[in-house]
Order: sequence, then C-alpha cells, then structure tokens
Amino acid sequence: MKIYKDDNVFAKILRNEIPCKKVYEDDLVLCFHDINPEAKIHLLIIPKIKCVDFSDFISCATPLQVSLFFTTIKKIAEDILNLKESGYKLKTNNGKNAGQEVFHFHVHLTSN
Ligand code: AMP
Repeated sequence: MKIYKDDNVFAKILRNEIPCKKVYEDDLVLCFHDINPEAKIHLLIIPKIKCVDFSDFISCATPLQVSLFFTTIKKIAEDILNLKESGYKLKTNNGKNAGQEVFHFHVHLTSN
C-alpha cells in the first residue's frame, strides 16, 4: 500500500478546508469542477477513501466500494449531466510519470 499524505489538495477539499464547486456528494463520492478546465465540462470525481491513485484504490477499497464508485460516475455523467447521447471521456493519471499531480485518486470527466 502506498503512503497517503493528508496535506494533498483534495484531502483539504474533503475536510472543507478549501472550497470547491460541488456537483455531487454522497457517503463515498465527491464530484466537483476542475479549477483549470481542459474542456467545456471538466469534473473531478474522487472517493472519500484515503487512496493515492487508481491502483491503490483497487487494492484498498472493497469490491462494493469500487463498484459503487464507478456506478456513481455513470450516474453523474448520464443522469445528472445528461451526457449519455453526446458522450464523455473518463481519465485517470496513475502515478507521477503518467502526469498525476494530486495524490488522492481521482477520475477526470470531460465533455465538449
Ligand atoms: P492530475 O494531474 O490527474 O493529478 O489532476 C489534478 C487536477 O486537479 C488538475 O486538472 C488540476 O487542475 C486540478 N486541481 C488542482 N487543484 C484544484 C482545486 N483546488 N480545485 C479543483 N481542481 C483542482
């Protein structure tokens, strides 16, 4: 298991120490607007579990949490944002060499 650092920016958002433009929240998931959008819609979806990246999330979370997390992404994209027909992209950077800058697992949801 990787070492999770509590001073990362998404941990601060989860603790309400810094604000975010929230789109959706439940017991497991928080979704908010990326501060530096690269598309017309650019959201970040994070689990509330302390995990560093995708690989860490799959190792740490229960199968139910993993399933709920990805089901919730579908709900946000298709039921809340209504993007099923127009389409959307999901991306996660796993590790520094892949471009990851914030070390709390997150999925980018973008759509133009
Ligand atoms: P990554 O490179 O995959 O780790 O992506 C990190 C993302 O977090 C980038 O797209 C940043 O623009 C975004 N980001 C950084 N700080 C904040 C913040 N305070 N609120 C919202 N998004 C942020």
